[in-house]
Amino acid sequence: MPSHIQEKEQLVRCIRMLEQNSIMDYNGHASMKIAPDHMLINIGNCQRSQLTIDDICQIDFDGNVIEGQGKPPLEFHLHAGVYKARADVSAAIHCHPNWSTVLSTAGLDYLPVYAQGSLVYPLPVLDSPDSINNVNMAKRLTDTLGNRPAALMKAHGVVTTGASIIDAFVLLNYLEENAERQYRSHLIGTPYAFTEEELELCYEKLYNPGLFLRTWNHFSAKLDGIVHDA
Ligand SMILES: [Zn+2]
Repeated sequence: MPSHIQEKEQLVRCIRMLEQNSIMDYNGHASMKIAPDHMLINIGNCQRSQLTIDDICQIDFDGNVIEGQGKPPLEFHLHAGVYKARADVSAAIHCHPNWSTVLSTAGLDYLPVYAQGSLVYPLPVLDSPDSINNVNMAKRLTDTLGNRPAALMKAHGVVTTGASIIDAFVLLNYLEENAERQYRSHLIGTPYAFTEEELELCYEKLYNPGLFLRTWNHFSAKLDGIVHDA
């Protein structure tokens, strides 16, 4: 009998919602820490759009499979590195979304142009497009991340973290939505970046578990709609 069914179901839901909303493609991974040195993570070679709990494995921080079929993604080092560096983090997501990645490809700083998007501002950038597939790259990433909830990886992708998978999921949505709005604003003018005062207000109003759950539920209901229509 497989363990951690509920956590696996939540992880599957997270990845399928990201895939459905074109934030995650055929690559990308999400994890949840379930013990001081164990995590759940989707196997590298799985179909994100048709994911089930059988595609989730349990590994230790060296990548050894404790339970499940298949191997973890090569970039499991990213997740292990974040959990080792940050006791406050219990979930992490990494993928290669269009809009936020194109900002770092073009060398543009992420600007807070949208209230929800300001929650991850300032957003640090890892100055390398290399895969986080070893301990050294994971260290570079966690040094870049510092105590922030999210970071970009230049011309590569993004990582978001949280105390729960809901936090990491919601922040990723906000970040990507902000990046798209910023990109589009650059096309027709100069993006308006929120002031310090406006940023503080956004943080006070919007960084709250009730609103995060509402955002999760919004996407979750859409996923259920598709599953039921099928
Ligand atoms: Zn990657």
